[in-house]
Amino acid sequence: MPLSRKPGGGEAARTACIRTFGCQMNVHDSDRMRRMLLDAGYAEVQRYEDADLVILNTCYVRENAVNRIRGHLGELNRLRREGRVKKIALTGCIGASDEAAELQEQYGIDLVLGTHNTYELAEFIGLPTMEETYTPELPGVEGQKSAFLTIMTGCNYRCSYCVVPRVRGRMVCRPLENVLGEVRRLVRSGTNYVTLLGQTVDAWRHEGRRFCDLLEAVAEEAPRVWFTTSHPSNMEDRTLRAIGERGTIVKKLHLPVQSGSDRMLRMMHRGYKADRYRRKIEVFREHVPDGTLSTDIIVGHPGETESDHEATLKLIEDCQFDSAYIFKFSPRRGTEAAGMQDVVPPDVVQRRFLEVLRAVEQSAFRRNQRKVGGVEEVYIRHGRADSGRAVGETWSGHAVHVDTDAAPGEYVRARIESAGPHVLYAGRPL
Ligand code: SAM
Ligand code: SF4
Repeated sequence: MPLSRKPGGGEAARTACIRTFGCQMNVHDSDRMRRMLLDAGYAEVQRYEDADLVILNTCYVRENAVNRIRGHLGELNRLRREGRVKKIALTGCIGASDEAAELQEQYGIDLVLGTHNTYELAEFIGLPTMEETYTPELPGVEGQKSAFLTIMTGCNYRCSYCVVPRVRGRMVCRPLENVLGEVRRLVRSGTNYVTLLGQTVDAWRHEGRRFCDLLEAVAEEAPRVWFTTSHPSNMEDRTLRAIGERGTIVKKLHLPVQSGSDRMLRMMHRGYKADRYRRKIEVFREHVPDGTLSTDIIVGHPGETESDHEATLKLIEDCQFDSAYIFKFSPRRGTEAAGMQDVVPPDVVQRRFLEVLRAVEQSAFRRNQRKVGGVEEVYIRHGRADSGRAVGETWSGHAVHVDTDAAPGEYVRARIESAGPHVLYAGRPL
């Protein structure tokens, strides 16, 4: 990758490697750090051994996350002893966690940043006036076809199992005009797909305006818009209607349910019952008949009984998801659920996990089959499938592998030839 500016005095180029773990928020934070690095004259490299500075931008949502990072830190320490890596930075959610200080001590990490002070990287890499240049409200990556745009940070919920409020703090919403200004800048610089990001985007509110107002305003400016993640307690019917009505909004809803059992939802402090969730889905299906629906489900939260699990399977049957992220419960230090009794034995968790997975895959497969034979307008995204086909997305939010050389950001029309539970497959564009 070319340097955008060399560090003063023509000194040798410095190199940096960013490794990202976890969710789209982290991908977005990495993009922000990447821009700082390029501005400071670093060239990006892909391998640790080629990097002067390695940044591990981490996720803390599941227990093995920390162990995984320990593996990387051990390897980096070895490379540093051999003189191949000079500095190591730990950022993101583990950087904001209780374990950060211990990891820093043990592995001699040079810089630890949480999710709130990512912009302090600027100072570390020698950028002047970083406070003015890099605020926590950094723009998404410009000049690319697709961009993430953070509209809110933190979370005001206190779900029993979740570390996010601890590591990302309380909700802070970005003003509407500020968001729109950034959307316009991005669109002017060539972005044609904007994804609004936050832990509970539908909880966004500012000066009397609510999320739907923001979404509709963004949908006027950007050619293609999506948003994630939403919370069922905040999801308004008018937002669901807007997804169906507005031509520029991708018809895809990610609405994490976590469990189909009211008892578990109460224990998790989710703030809704399963039937309220079902009603939301009915509204979505009514107004967005061709849309795709995905969710998050946690299997094996402490106290989950066989009948709670059955209730989750029933909800999956009723909602007919197009896809789901299924998580085995993982105790996170400092959360309420980590201290709960009634831990579900691992073999039971595994069986329930597979049952949930099978139920979701069956409904996803059935729904995907309905697309076979139809012609779809497909937006080409970044990257390619192992088969060499381009990875795209329909307006209904289905992932499609298409046999085309079209570049990211372009649209092609193609016939869907076959479908699996996760992806549709299309031939040469028409
Ligand atoms: N804010 C989103 C919401 O409320 O739905 C989710 C954010 S969280 C980073 C993403 C998903 O990770 C959650 O929806 C949940 O299913 C899963 N998750 C979070 N903490 C977990 C834990 N301790 N064990 C297992 N899964 C967890
Ligand atoms: Fe975590 Fe989402 Fe619950 Fe917030 S709403 S505490 S981010 S699971």
